[in-house]
Amino acid sequence: MASTADFVWMDGEIVPWANAQIHVSAEAVLRGANVFEGMRAYWNSDERQLYIFRNEEHLRRLRQSAKIMRMSIPYTDEQFTQAFIDLIRKNRFTDNVHFRPVVYFDAGDYKWKPDEIRTGAFVLAFSRPPSAAGKAGIQSCVSSWRRNSDNSSPSRIKAAGNYHNSRLAYVDAKTKGFDTPIMLNDRGDVAEGPASCFMMVRDGVVITPPVNADILESITRDTLIQLYRDELGVQVVERDIDRSELYIADEAFFCGSGAEVVPIVGIDHYPMGDGKVGPLTKQIQEIYFRIATDKDGKYSKWLLPVYRDNDVR
Ligand code: PMP
Repeated sequence: MASTADFVWMDGEIVPWANAQIHVSAEAVLRGANVFEGMRAYWNSDERQLYIFRNEEHLRRLRQSAKIMRMSIPYTDEQFTQAFIDLIRKNRFTDNVHFRPVVYFDAGDYKWKPDEIRTGAFVLAFSRPPSAAGKAGIQSCVSSWRRNSDNSSPSRIKAAGNYHNSRLAYVDAKTKGFDTPIMLNDRGDVAEGPASCFMMVRDGVVITPPVNADILESITRDTLIQLYRDELGVQVVERDIDRSELYIADEAFFCGSGAEVVPIVGIDHYPMGDGKVGPLTKQIQEIYFRIATDKDGKYSKWLLPVYRDNDVR
């Protein structure tokens, strides 16, 4: 069943879930013409506070996606930020939240100039606790579907259209009995998962594909690179990864705002290390959740509090 909530933010207003509708003739419906972000707010139960994680960086990427699409966004960053806060407060969430600001082209009849086609925006927010996969780990495979290449449909743009490619790979992997696939790029190097970035560990070094490997410039990837270096003193190398390296890695995992940190315990039926969740994967998971919930107050620059003292929650 699809996730739901009581309210949605749509074009400047908070409306009941059932009223958040767009027309079937919208470019967004007919051709998947939208850009969006997948964001999180983390619940600190001691403080009874929710913190939006890396708000500025997500809004910046939303604007970069829109820029490449030549799409004008009808709201400022301040308006979007207020929309996120208002919507979360209105839904009265008291656990971890996943939310999606979406900017889309409305009915356009193939018009292409930004001022000729209406751009709408909405924000969906759901309560979303951590998944079981985060603990136990998952079985992955190398997909025979290649990741979108930069010269056809850049993976750097977070646009719905790119997720047709993700869906093909994901459904194919599921059909074959795996969980989430690893996609190679057109050059045959490792790119990313359908909705997350990829990292692996070899000999105590964390290795992840570079931002020009046909991946989304992931905010979680950036977060984990900083945390490995600054909190754990672990070396992180951004370089191309061969397929065969996957099979001899000691550890591997996916990361993303929605996915968080999902350990991979096997790839194409090759066990990762001893086939259990690896130590550098576990450690980064723990640090990530501690920081996202502001447990040690060290990375408050990445966190935006949602609730005020007098809010009911
Ligand atoms: N790659 C793809 C294709 C994604 O959809 C996501 C999820 N947004 C990611 C990577 C991870 O990006 P982020 O860490 O910014 O959520």
